[in-house]
Amino acid sequence: MNYNKKTVKDVDVKGKKVLLRCDFNVPMAKDGSGVITDDKRIRAALPTIQYLLDQGAAVIACSHMGKPKGEVKPELSLKPVAQRLSQLLDKPVLMAEDVVGPDAQAKAAALQPGQVLLLENTRFEKGETKNDPALAKAMASMAEVYVSDAFGAVHRAHASTAGVAAFLPAVSGFLIQKELDFIGGALANPKRPLVAILGGSKVSSKIGVINNLLEIADTIIIGGGMAYTFSAAQGGKVGDSLLEEDWKDYSLEMIQKAKDKGVKLLLPVDTVIADAFAPDAKSQVVQAGTIPDGWQGLDIGPETVKLYCDAVKDAGTVIWNGPMGVFEFAAFAKGTEAVAEALSKTSAITIIGGGDSAAAVQQLGYADKMTHISTGGGASLEFMEGKDLPGVACLLDQ
Ligand code: ADP
Ligand code: MG
Repeated sequence: MNYNKKTVKDVDVKGKKVLLRCDFNVPMAKDGSGVITDDKRIRAALPTIQYLLDQGAAVIACSHMGKPKGEVKPELSLKPVAQRLSQLLDKPVLMAEDVVGPDAQAKAAALQPGQVLLLENTRFEKGETKNDPALAKAMASMAEVYVSDAFGAVHRAHASTAGVAAFLPAVSGFLIQKELDFIGGALANPKRPLVAILGGSKVSSKIGVINNLLEIADTIIIGGGMAYTFSAAQGGKVGDSLLEEDWKDYSLEMIQKAKDKGVKLLLPVDTVIADAFAPDAKSQVVQAGTIPDGWQGLDIGPETVKLYCDAVKDAGTVIWNGPMGVFEFAAFAKGTEAVAEALSKTSAITIIGGGDSAAAVQQLGYADKMTHISTGGGASLEFMEGKDLPGVACLLDQ
């Protein structure tokens, strides 16, 4: 996939209607009160929206929320988003009652430069997730330019994320441009040495990432729950730790692949074990591969922390996906925190991908010390897997 895409700065939007795909899939209060519990994603969209308005465009914003599966579900309406967006922009935001129905069409037709219209939840339409060309065409017919800024949804080929690009000149907004610059840059032309830190829960959810980064990185560091499958595959005792029997052979293949490619692969040398999966479990440190029955590994140990922190010291680029332990429990967050601290001290370009990894870095207070924290969980994983992202591939090349 070509990461060098045209952006909003490469097209003339003055006096034009711009269909802007945002990621307004914000968390809402569970009680159905319509209260947005975290408006980060709405705030993240502001620079592109403001830029388009400043350039004299009329902005027709759209997004999905939740999984209404092609039906109108009032609790998944974007109305609360329109209100919040209006507060943040300090100007009215018109809300359409539908996605491509008569109300959306009429309001889009009447929209003036400098005005903002928000369409209803794109997934209220059955054709959205099927990437129905008729729906894409109907959405496109309301506008003259398409701007994609929903990085969290670019790994899906849906009508509003990819299909519309067949009918309009399509460019990226600032959010996607940043993701392409940093993640795309690190994958295509990294400042070396490139160190990839991989953790999280399961090998099976990271096979593509491990495999692809083994092609590119100089060093791969393995931590988190997946490390125990690597350990067991090499004959280690992992007690009750997270273990995927079916992925032991794959782990051995990856160890071999690293050898063949001359990639340094680091595995934990010690581990913090607990007598239960609980925040207040009894814990101790043991050597990797020597975990007694009845105990489970929930974090990397202090010797491993030293080894890993040392390995990132002189890195040119670090890509990190997957926490080193169960960081949600303070007692088992030390490994993840130590790695975050080490990254904050390097002069390397530091890139964090993955939903839980981003949450961990934020929760531990290191967010502003990283070069780039991806805004897309699943999308950033597929990006790191080296897959084509339909919502990016469909944009005009530079
Ligand atoms: P990301 O969302 O960044 O891709 P993952 O979803 O793969 O990351 O993994 C995050 C989860 O992995 C966290 O909830 C964390 O508690 C869990 N995890 C990390 N280490 C372990 C471990 N040793 N045992 C069980 N779960 C773990
Ligand atoms: Mg996750």
